[in-house]
Amino acid sequence: MAEAARGIAAQPKCLVCSQPADKRCGTCKSAFYCSGAHQKQHWGSHKATCKTTKPTIVLVSLSKLGYLDTMYARFFEPLRTKATLSEALSPDTAISAISLPSVAAVIVTDAGIAERKNRRVVDQLVQYALTGGTVIFGMHFANFIRAEDGERMWRDVWGLPWSTGSMRRTAFALNRQSTLVLERPKKCVEGLSASYQMKALHIGGIRQEEGVYVASIAEYEEGEEEEGVAPMMNFDEVPVAFGRYGEGFVGYMGDTVAEPQSAIALLAMCGF
Ligand SMILES: [Zn+2]
Ligand SMILES: [Zn+2]
Repeated sequence: MAEAARGIAAQPKCLVCSQPADKRCGTCKSAFYCSGAHQKQHWGSHKATCKTTKPTIVLVSLSKLGYLDTMYARFFEPLRTKATLSEALSPDTAISAISLPSVAAVIVTDAGIAERKNRRVVDQLVQYALTGGTVIFGMHFANFIRAEDGERMWRDVWGLPWSTGSMRRTAFALNRQSTLVLERPKKCVEGLSASYQMKALHIGGIRQEEGVYVASIAEYEEGEEEEGVAPMMNFDEVPVAFGRYGEGFVGYMGDTVAEPQSAIALLAMCGF
């Protein structure tokens, strides 16, 4: 699927003809075009800057704890190889950072987002996702979100029936019918692990295609899986979710200890 139109504050314009642009360079994500033809035409002059321009990932950290960076270093390091990380510690900086056209994705890193005083940031994130952006909740969000706060924000502002579930370590398998696998470019998803273990805060209330990694029901119920029969998957709660939201996507990464396989999933959600 082609990259959708995006950017509400700064409506991107085609670098060739200045018409509204709804396509952009898949590598640097910073050069916008009205059409594939104009992108091709511009490649000769864009090539050099493309190599040196990294897209931006905005980290919305409204109640940041100092040890976020060390605790989630295994997430941040691979993200830094693909993007410039721009950290927003206040509602004002978050709102202006999200509005820039070169933003590839926004990661909400903690539970501060669900505080009522930060509602205008949530409104901006909803708009950003509706118009083609990607918003992912994870890291300390999964460690610290209070169930009622997260559920209220998802329900009242996002219109999502997501709920928070259990915190536990379990083995999960990749759902090959998931939106992440089917709708992100092949190069993003080919590195995803088929299965691994993680300790995660689960979320529920998802549609099946939103479940990226899913445990078998036997993982939960002392069950004996029958040989040769595909295990029944438990979609009641999942550790990693990613779904369509308007023209864009909303994701959730519940891994609380930053397994390397989760870092790959996070990169794929961001479009890398
Ligand atoms: Zn054009
Ligand atoms: Zn480029």
